[in-house]
Amino acid sequence: MDNNYTVLARKYRSQDFKSLIGQDVLVKTLTTAINTGRIAHAYIFTGIRGTGKTSTARILAKALNCTASDGPTANPCGVCENCRAIAAGQHIDVLEIDAASHTGVDNMREILDATQYRPTNGRYKVYIIDEVHMLSASAFNALLKTLEEPPAHVIFILATTDIRKVPVTILSRCQRFDLVRVPVETLKKHFAWISEQEHVELSDTANELLARAADGSVRDGLSLLDQAIAQTGGHVDEAAVMDMLKRADRGVVVDFMQTLLSGNVATALAKADEIYTNGADLSMLLTDMMEWTHWATRMHPSLRIGENQNTPYTADQRERINEINKHVTLNTLSRIWQVMVAAVPEMQASTNQKQCFDMLVVRLMHIADMPSVSDILKQQKIERPTPTPVVEAKQPEKPEIKTATDLADALQSAREMMLYSYFTKNIEISEISNNTISYFDRGNDADFQQRLVLWLNNNTGSTWVLKKIETSHQDQTVNEKTKSETIADPMVADAMSLFENAEIVGISKQ
Ligand SMILES: [Zn+2]
Repeated sequence: MDNNYTVLARKYRSQDFKSLIGQDVLVKTLTTAINTGRIAHAYIFTGIRGTGKTSTARILAKALNCTASDGPTANPCGVCENCRAIAAGQHIDVLEIDAASHTGVDNMREILDATQYRPTNGRYKVYIIDEVHMLSASAFNALLKTLEEPPAHVIFILATTDIRKVPVTILSRCQRFDLVRVPVETLKKHFAWISEQEHVELSDTANELLARAADGSVRDGLSLLDQAIAQTGGHVDEAAVMDMLKRADRGVVVDFMQTLLSGNVATALAKADEIYTNGADLSMLLTDMMEWTHWATRMHPSLRIGENQNTPYTADQRERINEINKHVTLNTLSRIWQVMVAAVPEMQASTNQKQCFDMLVVRLMHIADMPSVSDILKQQKIERPTPTPVVEAKQPEKPEIKTATDLADALQSAREMMLYSYFTKNIEISEISNNTISYFDRGNDADFQQRLVLWLNNNTGSTWVLKKIETSHQDQTVNEKTKSETIADPMVADAMSLFENAEIVGISKQ
């Protein structure tokens, strides 16, 4: 590579509206406005880095000052003196100010004082203020005064990556344009075209990886492409980009998630060692695992969304995810997602990422392995020793009631929620036999007995006697019983030990 190598982002910077990448709406609006002579006195461009804010500002400056046309034009020629000077950043009437280094009010006043003089070579004096949100409050005030009564020959173009930090008073005087993240497909086309111009081989999968890593920014994507070309001598393939991004192959990630969700700790930790030894960045691996979890959730059969064409996985990998999804509930996916999200700042703060990652693996496996509280309750229902045909919605006519839990279940299936909630919270059952219930009522509700007898007689096909006892026998209510059974379950105890100060606040049945 020769010494005059220009970075791709600069070499292929858009020079006119037609070549702006991925900003179709902005281009259409802006060109229509210029063609119909509606020129605003102030514009503000906002968007993430590398989406073309400064390029657009320069193109607009050219459009306003191009001498190939009698007035402002949406198609600046690019070759007249003004166009060339603006493209090179050397035009006397077009000032590019980096707000980050001119934050003070004195700087701003000095710059704004010059607005009263007419342009020298162009039609307009154009002030491009980059990263405008960095200005101090007093500098913003000075700018506001000029924006309130701008001289006719002055145009302001503000650019920012953080629009929320720009005062509303400023915003309300500007025409605002949002530059969007450039879609992966658009970036791919652009990178493929540039590779052709540069006589560089870029495989489709490598291109895809670069475009995704760019995360919507043309500039970031091109600087990655620069780096990949330099490292490979112009033969950019998937392996090279993977290596450069310190990323594990997606196939490896799918494989790792499968091991993790199958519950074999030793194998999962061994695989983590292997991925780490092969040079993957563990924060990046966590990002990839989160990506996997996100897509597995979206592809989960219970959501019935159907095939998604936008997943980053190959057909083969998608098939494996579908296979894994058959054995994993949506609930588990959402719980491992939560743990991963919490681990992101932990990983960043940790001085030993590998330790941190190993502990995360163990935590995730614990969760993947653990049935949800509702699964546990369902299981308890099945394993209950007395074969009580649990009252389900199918046969609500004749519930068989032998225990307090039977009665609670019967009330719940019958949707007698007032009775159910009072019963499970306040009633201590001492005995149920021969259609006679002895109980103590903590709430001492005058109507409860009558309502329950009425319900029982109407719904069980038998006649019931309710005996209210005056002194508590210290029996548990149904709620207390459910809670203590749940806490006693070793798997729930495990789950609770994972979270500091955890407390069971409610138990949901399915
Ligand atoms: Zn021109």
